[in-house]
Amino acid sequence: MHSDVLVVGGGPAGLAAAIAARAKGFSVSLVDSRKPPIDKPCGEGLLPEAAASLRALGVDLESCANYRFTGIRFSDSASSASARFGRASAYGVRRTVLHRLLVDRAQSVGVDLHWGARLVHHDSVAADIDGQRIFFRWLIAADGMNSPIRKSAGLNPIARTRGRFAFRRHFSVAPWTDLVEVHWGSASTAPSRNFPAWRAASRGRVPPPPNQARGPRFQKRASLPAVTSLSSATLPVPLTASPVRA
Ligand SMILES: Cc1cc2nc3c(=O)[nH]c(=O)nc-3n(C[C@H](O)[C@H](O)[C@H](O)COP(=O)(O)OP(=O)(O)OC[C@H]3O[C@@H](n4cnc5c(N)ncnc54)[C@H](O)[C@@H]3O)c2cc1C
Repeated sequence: MHSDVLVVGGGPAGLAAAIAARAKGFSVSLVDSRKPPIDKPCGEGLLPEAAASLRALGVDLESCANYRFTGIRFSDSASSASARFGRASAYGVRRTVLHRLLVDRAQSVGVDLHWGARLVHHDSVAADIDGQRIFFRWLIAADGMNSPIRKSAGLNPIARTRGRFAFRRHFSVAPWTDLVEVHWGSASTAPSRNFPAWRAASRGRVPPPPNQARGPRFQKRASLPAVTSLSSATLPVPLTASPVRA
């Protein structure tokens, strides 16, 4: 089998790259070891630039049920600062909904999608995908933050010193503002959005329980009934990084 472009990874980056490559007229195959809808711990906020980029790819966020927000507010126990995005809108979109929109668009523009298919080996002209060999002219490594392909290409400039921990949970609550709220604590940040979702990320070795994220207003919201179970991830998020050198 041959494709001009082989994309490894069917998350938002891989699907967007695949749609864009099809728009340029290339034949495109995409492989992902998981199957849609692919979920993951994520704050699920799409800022105006992301919304505009998705529109340019033919993905219309207005067409799905999501929450629209107009700015962002940062708060800690003592202070708060907020700003509006201007005329542009941003959206809170469930990760699974965003994934479905991107998959539908990729399918409709003719990306050859292979779900449940893991890349096990590749060289500069072909990749072995669970027993199948796909030849390519270009390989796009969209295989996530820890990208083994990036490492194998020697493009791994990130120096990690400490891990971060992330949690995400959704709560059933009526909107109380049209801003994204980011609540800062001593060891965590807890963005909350009104569509409604919640996640916290912390730096350090021990993740604080989600309901201990700082900020009295936030704690009040976080005691509401949850509508999804807690999902978490240990993130080797870079605390220091240097630019990629070609
Ligand atoms: C806690 C948290 C909150 C966030 N909040 C936001 C937010 O509010 N707004 C925002 O825009 N971004 C947010 N992000 C960032 C956003 O989630 C990521 O940037 C985004 O998921 C990256 O997408 P991706 O397609 O690069 O990778 P991923 O979504 O990780 O996709 C990589 C895919 O590659 C596949 N894969 C890996 N290896 C192989 C292989 N060998 N063969 C086949 N398939 C393979 C995996 O199965 C996976 O589906 C957040 C991230 C975190 C952790």
